[in-house]
Order: sequence, then structure tokens, then C-alpha cells
Amino acid sequence: MTSRPLFSGSRAFGVCRHLAQTIGERVQGLESTITTKEYLCNQLKEHGLEKVHAQGFPVFTSRQKKAYVTFGNRTFEGLSFGLSGTTEREGITGPMAKYTSWSWNPTPDELDNFADKIVVLYTRDFSQEVVHDLIQAKVRGIIHVTYEPGIPIKLPMGFIYSGLNTGDFDLLPPIISINYRDGAKLLTNPRDVTIQADVTILQSESFNVIGEIPGRESDAIVLSAHYDSVPYSPGATDNAGGTAILLELARIFAQSTPRWTLRFVAFGSEECALQGSRYYCQSLADGLWESKLNLNFDVQGTRIGHLAVGILGGKRLRTRVNHAITHWNPKIQPGPTGGDNRIFAYYEIPAIHWWFGGGANFLLNHTIHDRLDMVAPQSLEFAGQASEVFIRELDTRRTLQFSIPQSLQKKNVESIKSITTEPDYV
Ligand SMILES: [Zn+2]
Repeated sequence: MTSRPLFSGSRAFGVCRHLAQTIGERVQGLESTITTKEYLCNQLKEHGLEKVHAQGFPVFTSRQKKAYVTFGNRTFEGLSFGLSGTTEREGITGPMAKYTSWSWNPTPDELDNFADKIVVLYTRDFSQEVVHDLIQAKVRGIIHVTYEPGIPIKLPMGFIYSGLNTGDFDLLPPIISINYRDGAKLLTNPRDVTIQADVTILQSESFNVIGEIPGRESDAIVLSAHYDSVPYSPGATDNAGGTAILLELARIFAQSTPRWTLRFVAFGSEECALQGSRYYCQSLADGLWESKLNLNFDVQGTRIGHLAVGILGGKRLRTRVNHAITHWNPKIQPGPTGGDNRIFAYYEIPAIHWWFGGGANFLLNHTIHDRLDMVAPQSLEFAGQASEVFIRELDTRRTLQFSIPQSLQKKNVESIKSITTEPDYV
């Protein structure tokens, strides 16, 4: 057991640079997925991990070009969501209907009124459920207004998931995100509106990259981070930063034999309904029981922020984390927060979401501004060293048995359902 942390922020930053800058946007199932997968496999092998391999799984992905919204004589540029509908070149025109509440809670009458209209909304909780309701209401198109003034166009979720399992995308209306300023103009002038979206959906493959440091015991801690990004974003903090922390932890722990087996997984396709972690957990099925705890790094490295930890586990786990890393003054909160960790919890494996929080992160996420210049090696080192110390602390314990309180599990299942109506992969 080393007393001084070995985690190097500058090494982690190098990985982050490679992912966010050299490779750039890492949308599931496109060419960058292959490049990234190979890079991650090589890194894990170089660090001396065992059983390094890439686990492939089928996904749908899309190539999309810029999207436009025209009303009167104005045209606004927007972004279309991955796996959303496409239009003919001249676009589609229809009467506009607006929904101007921050939360999604429409009355049946409101929903009826949306039929055959182009719906403009700026709900903060723009989710799979919202899209599902709007499809049921037979809308002609959806325009999502980015809800914070002063930030670029944002895709609250990178992809829209409805119909994914069946591959039936014909039902999907075009869905476009525009910025707040343009949205405000649109919302104060309801009239006929035209939207143009150019989205090509393709069947493809995504990968989870897996490696292992065998411990003296077979009980395992699964360390994870997703490496994919939403369309248009280099995903520097979400989540090249988390992947960089994952690789740096692999490097430093491979230098010794830990008590608990450490399994490292870089997930693909988190940004599309957590598909990578869902596939991973389901493919392991019974083998998952060796996994006693998941530590998931998602959203890391922003220049400003603080260490935040979301826990899908009971009081004992919370106390353990708090005790190990008080020095870092973490904000500890009960889950569900984060992404892939929620799938582990769904399978009854207590899970921790480890992130670097603060207002800036929230604004950057899923925008074109989530670039490397927003990342600092010090931030990666701060969160990375805290996690290193926590893992070493677990290594001194005789058991990895934690549990998830039922009330928390219930909330977790609800939260997964807002992302995907089918938590199991198939
Ligand atoms: Zn993320």
C-alpha cells in the first residue's frame, strides 16, 4: 500500500487530449468508434492488463448534416438529433404549437392539440418519454429550444431512442435543437414554420473495451467510463476525461496485485440509451455476480468544479466513501445520477458515479464547446487521486458486500425508464 497517490494528472491529460482532440467527436458506430476502440485496447495492453478485448454489439447510428428552421423570412440554423426523422430537401411545413413549461406534464387536451403540428418546446426534462408522448400525439416535427441563454445549441440527449430495437425509424418525426435566442423569437411569433433535417440512419457496431487486473480474490470492482460522445461534440469532459482517469488507474494498479480483482471497462454507446453497459451486464448474466461494486467516471476534468459522488448504495457505502476521501471535500449525494452506473445498480450491483461537478459542466455537456481547452490536468488529478485512495482503502477491507436500499433502487429503475423503456439490452 502506497501512502502517496501515484495518479498522474498530466498522463491522464495526454489520454484526454488524444481522445478529444486527435480523434475528436466519437459518435457510436461511426469510423471514430473503431479508431477509439483500437487506441483503448492498445493502452490497456501496454499497461499490462490481462484478458484485454473488445466486445462488439449491434447499434444504429446516424450521420446528420445541419438542420434549419424557417418562419416568415428568417432562417435559423439548428442541429438535428441522431436517430430522429429526416425530411425532403425542401423540408416540411406545418402550423406551430408551443409548449412552454419547464417540466413535461401536458394535459390530454394539450396533447390532442399537437396532432399534425410542429411542436416547439423548451422543457428541461426533454427525454425519451417526451418524444414517445409526442410520437403518440402524431406530431409532424419537434423543435427543442436550448433552455439556457448564452450557451450554444445543445442536444439534451445525443440520440433519440424510440423504435431502436425494432429498427422502425419511420415513426420518428424530425427533431431539431435550436439556441435560446432563436427559440425565443420563434415562441413569440407562432405561425407556420418549416423544418429541414437531413439524417441518415445506419446499422453498425459499437464496442466495449475490457481488461482486467486479477486480484488475490475473484470478487471484483468494475471501474468504468464511457468513451463515446454525442454528435457535434468532441466530448472532452463528457467523457474523454472519465476515460482518461480510467486508463491512468489501470496503469497504476497494474503495477501491483490488489486484493480485489479490478475489471476495467470503457463503454461504447452510453449516449444512446446506455447501450454499452446494458449489453455488457446482460452478456455477463450469471458471471456478473463476481462484480461487487461499480465505480463509474462520467464527466471529468473541467477546469473549475468540485469532486462529486453519487451513490447507488446504502449508508455503509456512503460512510465508506466519505471516510476515505474527506480530504477532497466531496459532495456526496444519493443516486441516481450519471449514466452507466445506473445499469449496474439495476442488476443489484451497488454503483458509484464519480464526477467533477459545478455549473460549468452542466453548460458544456453535449455542446460543441466541450473541448480540450476546458480541461485541466489538475482537475483530472484531483478526482483521479481521490478514486485511487478510495480503491486502496477498499483493498484493506475484508469484504466488498454492500447493498442498495429498495427505495433507491425504485428511483433508479424510474430514471432508467426515462432514458430507455427497455432496460435489458434485447
Ligand atoms: Zn457522459
